[in-house]
Formats: sequence, C-alpha cells, structure tokens
Amino acid sequence: MSLLFCSETLKRADRLRSLAKKILKRLSRVLKINHHEHYPSASIGISIFPTDADSAEDLMKYSDSAMCLAKEMGRGGYQFFNEGLKAHADKMVTLETALSRAIVSGQLILHYQPQCDLRTGKTVGFEALVRWLDPVRGLIPPNDFIPVAEDTGLIIPLGEWVLHKACHGNKSWLDQGMSPMRMSVHISPRQFHHEGLLQMVQKTLKTSGLKPEFLELEITESSIMYDTNHAIEVMHRLRALGIDLAIDDFGSGYSSLLRLMDFPITKLKIDRGFVKNLGDDPNSNAFTKVILSLVRVLKLEVVAEGVENQEQADILIKNGCRTDQRYFYGRPQPWDQGRYPVTAKDLIDAPV
Ligand code: C2E
Ligand code: MG
Repeated sequence: MSLLFCSETLKRADRLRSLAKKILKRLSRVLKINHHEHYPSASIGISIFPTDADSAEDLMKYSDSAMCLAKEMGRGGYQFFNEGLKAHADKMVTLETALSRAIVSGQLILHYQPQCDLRTGKTVGFEALVRWLDPVRGLIPPNDFIPVAEDTGLIIPLGEWVLHKACHGNKSWLDQGMSPMRMSVHISPRQFHHEGLLQMVQKTLKTSGLKPEFLELEITESSIMYDTNHAIEVMHRLRALGIDLAIDDFGSGYSSLLRLMDFPITKLKIDRGFVKNLGDDPNSNAFTKVILSLVRVLKLEVVAEGVENQEQADILIKNGCRTDQRYFYGRPQPWDQGRYPVTAKDLIDAPV
C-alpha cells in the first residue's frame, strides 16, 4: 500500500506514523473464510507532497519504493520515502525501460539445467531459466530483473516469450531424437493470476506442437497462498490440459503442509535452503523427512535443489527422494553449449 500525503494537512511525521500504525492494525485482523483462518498483513510506503515530489507520478513511484523497503524490512511495517530511496526508485525506472526494450529486441535468452536421478546421475528432465544478455552489461541473472518485471507487469510478455521458447525448443529436441523428457517453465505469481494465462498456455502448446505431458509449470508458494480458491481453479484447468504442476522452492514461503492436499499439483521442489543444511541441522533433517513422507502419502514427485555433498544425497535417497538438480550435474547453460545427454543412447551411456 502506497500512501501519499500533502504536508499542508498532515505536517507532522508522528501523525503519519500513528496513522500508518492504525491502518496496519486494522488490516491485520484475523479473517475467517470457509472455516479457514487467514492472517492478512500489509506494508506501507509513505511519500509526502511537496517535500518528496510535486507530481502524482513521482509521489507514487517514491511511495512504492518506500513500500518495497518496508517489505524488505520484514513486512507488516511502514517506511517513509528518503533520499537514499530516490536513487533506487530512479534505478528501477531505468531498469524497467531497458527491460521492456530487451524483451522486444531479443536480448532475452534461455539456459537449461538438467534434473537428474540422485542415484545414477542420469538426466530425467530440464528446467528452463531466463537470462538477459545485455550488449553492455553482459549476462544478467534472473534475480536482478524478474522482481522488476513482476512489479511492473512486464512479466506477462516476458513469461510468454519464455514459455514459447521453451516449448518450441523441447519439441525440436524431441523431434531430433532426444529421449522424451519434461521441460519445467516458471510461472510467476502475477502470470499465474493473469486472466490470459490459460489461453496463452493452450496457444503455445498448439503452435509448438509439444505434447502437454512434456511440459511442467513451476509455480511459487506465494502464487497459491492468496486467493486460494481461484488458485485451485486455475491449477485444475491447467492440469486438465495435461500439464504437470510443480511447487518451486517449497519450504521457503508460508505454505501450510495441510493445504498441500487441496492443490492438484504433481511435484514439490525442496528449497535449497533446507537441502544445504541437511546433515548438520536437526531441524532441516526433520523438516525434509516430514516433506518426503507427505510427498509419499500424496503420491507426488519430488526434486531436491542444490545438493552439495554425498551425505545430503544419502539422506535424501534414504527418505525416498529420487531426483535432484544441482551444479554438480550441470550449471544452467544454453542448449547448444550444454553437454547434455540428448539421445536415448547418450542417456544409457551417461556417467553414473
Ligand atoms: P529457482 O527456480 O529456484 O532456480 C534454481 C536456481 O538455483 C537457478 O538460479 C540455478 O542456477 C541455481 N542452482 C542450481 N543448482 C545449484 C547448486 O547446486 N548450487 C547453487 N548455489 N545454486 C544452484 P538462477 O538461474 O539464477 O535462477 C534464479 C531464480 O530466478 C529461479 O530460482 C527462479 O525463481 C527465477 N527464474 C528463472 N527463470 C525464470 C523465468 O523464466 N520466469 C520466472 N518467473 N522466474 C524465473
Ligand atoms: Mg525453479
């Protein structure tokens, strides 16, 4: 929530502070919907007219930056706009302009990372990961621009490009004789709740000719934890197309394990944060075991992200996890540079 204030009427910062606190208190009341308790929260960014800016556009931009800071500071709080944030806000606008140019001028590329059988190391699928190849700055990782794309709505054309490219790519590799494998593609929260999502996915499958069983969409916990009924409906519709659905970075958000039963998903990807501490940290061990037993009960597939050593791999295998995705097996890279096993024969010969 961004708040703009006119200093004529609300001069004193303490008054703004107490108003922000009141709003936050009001918004944080427990909501009971369909017998479930929900705990809403809000973050507030405040910019003041005319101290911070004198146009509505700049005031919105600055209160937005202050709101982002409030979220970074732990959500549920408020922040005032300050000069330090001005540089950040201006940088965001520059980034947005450059990114929208990058999308139309073909500066986005896809890298692919193999997902492998934990015991044999054989490739069983791929994840498509977007990068921005800027002529001046070089290769820019997704974490540096996906949040801006998500905030500004650019994620809609960007996500459509990614899906198009990944589906056409997978179809052409299958046509060249690669063993049938699924390609995972990310769908961001904003894309997931966008009204055109289903149609876009259907159209892409049609134009690429890729069979739906070779496509998996990765969604985040945050996509399905708000407006849950709508999320479940969208998921059912996607599954009806024959597509698999994975929850990415599971455990990093606020998902309730119980709610998993309501979601028509096919796979969980265990967040690297848990895998990293396996062996050393009893809490990570216990949590991973709980997830893996639940996955067994719900008959879901599971992928562990970022396994770093044999001890972690052994714990995962012992508890029923079959697949992982990690630098050891291959960093994400462009298809033509990746030494991926692409034919059935290559797969049989893949190093164990
Ligand atoms: P993610 O989906 O969790 O992707 C896995 C990230 O972990 C990738 O980073 C990958 O390079 C990295 N990784 C894989 N194995 C290892 C390992 O063994 N050790 C370590 N330390 N890291 C490993 P990347 O490519 O920078 O992607 C970061 C995030 O950006 C992704 O996280 C995903 O959330 C987002 N992203 C990437 N492509 C897209 C896209 O097309 N659309 C959307 N909406 N998000 C994307
Ligand atoms: Mg992913």
